[in-house]
Amino acid sequence: MAGAIWCVVEDDRQGNPKKVMAEVLGEASRLASPLTGQAEAVWLTDKATEAGIKQLGEWGAKRVLLVENAGLAPYRGEVWAPVLAELVQKESPQAVFGAVTTRQREVMARLAARLGAGLAADVVALAVEDGKLVATRPVYAGKLLSKMTWAKTPWLATLRPNVFKPAEAQSGAAAAVDKPAATVPAPAMSLVERREESSTGLPELAEAEIVVSGGRGLKGPENFVILESLAKVLGAAVGASRAAVDAGWRPHRFQIGQTGRTISPKLYLGFGISGAIQHLAGMRTSKVICAINKDPEAPIFKIADFGIVGDLFEVAPALEQEFKKLLEK
Ligand SMILES: Cc1cc2nc3c(=O)[nH]c(=O)nc-3n(C[C@H](O)[C@H](O)[C@H](O)COP(=O)(O)OP(=O)(O)OC[C@H]3O[C@@H](n4cnc5c(N)ncnc54)[C@H](O)[C@@H]3O)c2cc1C
Repeated sequence: MAGAIWCVVEDDRQGNPKKVMAEVLGEASRLASPLTGQAEAVWLTDKATEAGIKQLGEWGAKRVLLVENAGLAPYRGEVWAPVLAELVQKESPQAVFGAVTTRQREVMARLAARLGAGLAADVVALAVEDGKLVATRPVYAGKLLSKMTWAKTPWLATLRPNVFKPAEAQSGAAAAVDKPAATVPAPAMSLVERREESSTGLPELAEAEIVVSGGRGLKGPENFVILESLAKVLGAAVGASRAAVDAGWRPHRFQIGQTGRTISPKLYLGFGISGAIQHLAGMRTSKVICAINKDPEAPIFKIADFGIVGDLFEVAPALEQEFKKLLEK
């Protein structure tokens, strides 16, 4: 619908929208009234589910534009972007929001290039001033916050997970479903030969409410089991610094920071991480930061809400025992 606020759906590839969609749709619904345009979900998928559509409606989507086509999986930016661009050109939404996820970071940038539109990436706040959308985003590795607005519509933005208030599911709220015609181009290249799902049994880094992160102080890949064990007790995801990733102790998808993932969990626990500015860029918006380091001068203590000066090999198991006791109560 013209003037709508679109939210590009991030799903789990099994037909279920991810939790971050509650945040993106929640924010779009909050802005819908000052901007006079309704929140709508745009779902590109090879398999939608009834439950997924229902979920989007309960999170505030007034309408779901569903493009269901086998050619949309696996995700390829060069296939998704023209489909989204065609829909935007036909319907003229005033804004298109995505989440800061691996797929949407890419596709929103491609969409902006195709439309000649402005993209505010990694946004941490949105407001309406004089009828125009204003985005706040961190710059200089999170040292400063900059405010920006757009010269023309559509306003494109990617929203950082775990920052925006998620919509409370309104049971019974149903979205209208439209299946617009869209040309799904053939992929220009085959990027994936074999796809492997990670099965750590732990939540995904970007979505987790608690993140336990390890750095060079762990001394070797074998010691990450200490953090995984703590993470299991807390229901947390495990992340890593670049030093740990560069050493080959963890795959790159677990890296937090400027050249890794940006996270904003409710609780971040950093073990044996010094707190280099490039690491802080990826986690400084965490609600509560707790650092464990044997060096009392480690820079991470400057931004930590809680600090434990000690040997992580003693502190992590001790914390695990204490959390276990607390959670068993
Ligand atoms: C362009 C660029 C991009 C970068 N992007 C990123 C990024 O995305 N993410 C990122 O993390 N880094 C990034 N870096 C690297 C960054 O500058 C740091 O080198 C890196 O974050 C350091 O990782 P670390 O804290 O694990 O290691 P170190 O800085 O070596 O710190 C290890 C810490 O462990 C402590 N320690 C050691 N043993 C113990 C123990 N037994 N118990 C408790 N504490 C202990 C030490 O006191 C020390 O503070 C980037 C750098 C550049 C130049």
